[in-house]
Amino acid sequence: MSAINFEVITLFPKAFELINNLGVITRSLEKNLINVNLYDLREYGEGSYRKVDDKPYGGGSGMVLKPEPIYKAHNSINKLTNSKTLLMTPQGKVLKQQDLLRWTSLDQLIIICGQYEGFDERVRCLADEEVSIGDYVLSGGEIPAISIINGLTRLLPGTLGDPGSLKDESHNSSLLEYPHYTRPLIFKEMKVPDILVSGNHEEIKLWRKQKMFERTLDRRNDLFSNEGYKELLKDKRKNNYSNEKVQFNIGNENEIYPDW
Ligand code: SAH
Repeated sequence: MSAINFEVITLFPKAFELINNLGVITRSLEKNLINVNLYDLREYGEGSYRKVDDKPYGGGSGMVLKPEPIYKAHNSINKLTNSKTLLMTPQGKVLKQQDLLRWTSLDQLIIICGQYEGFDERVRCLADEEVSIGDYVLSGGEIPAISIINGLTRLLPGTLGDPGSLKDESHNSSLLEYPHYTRPLIFKEMKVPDILVSGNHEEIKLWRKQKMFERTLDRRNDLFSNEGYKELLKDKRKNNYSNEKVQFNIGNENEIYPDW
């Protein structure tokens, strides 16, 4: 399996130093399972001040990232055949575990990080998918980009010591994971369920399955209904294309995921 190359366009490359201190993710960097290349947007800025932002047309608060430096940075990246460009934006499709899995088959993931009020609307044309990491607004796309690099890398064979730990975990299917316990057997009068120390592996398996259902119903029953909703959407999706001249890809065509 070839390495996944992350190419990140950012005004704050230093933010990515975090990746050098993230345990298993750092090990994957060292083992060359992933490469992270940073493109400092400032270097693509205009004039002697390396200008990358400007005031919004029409007025209003804040500064907007200009399109030219981002296009220049994007053009400077040597594109591999199996490549996608992701744009970090709170207006994108909310990131799901299935997206991370889907992207593990790529050779290259180009990630564009916004800042300030965001970017000039014409930057959206560079994106294959627009991605949000949740319904809240951060100051920049760096933390979303690091989240994607982190979440995707831990899915790659060779990253986790025990790949089995990926199987039952939350969001791998529409169920949350079962509860975990470790030593001591009794802590502050709270005892580990008897079944887990019974040695009966069949029963333990059943117990865990049941807990997965209970947990999901208790905490996130929307995850169950999402499944039905996806089925309903399947047919509607075909005529979902916009008539606009410029088509933005926010990833809506990727609702159906492989069985895993
Ligand atoms: N004014 C914009 C938000 C700008 S936030 C709006 O209302 O849509 C500045 C930058 O931070 C964005 O361009 C984006 O790159 C990043 N960002 C902020 N919140 C994000 C989120 N939830 N998911 C992904 N990127 C986000």
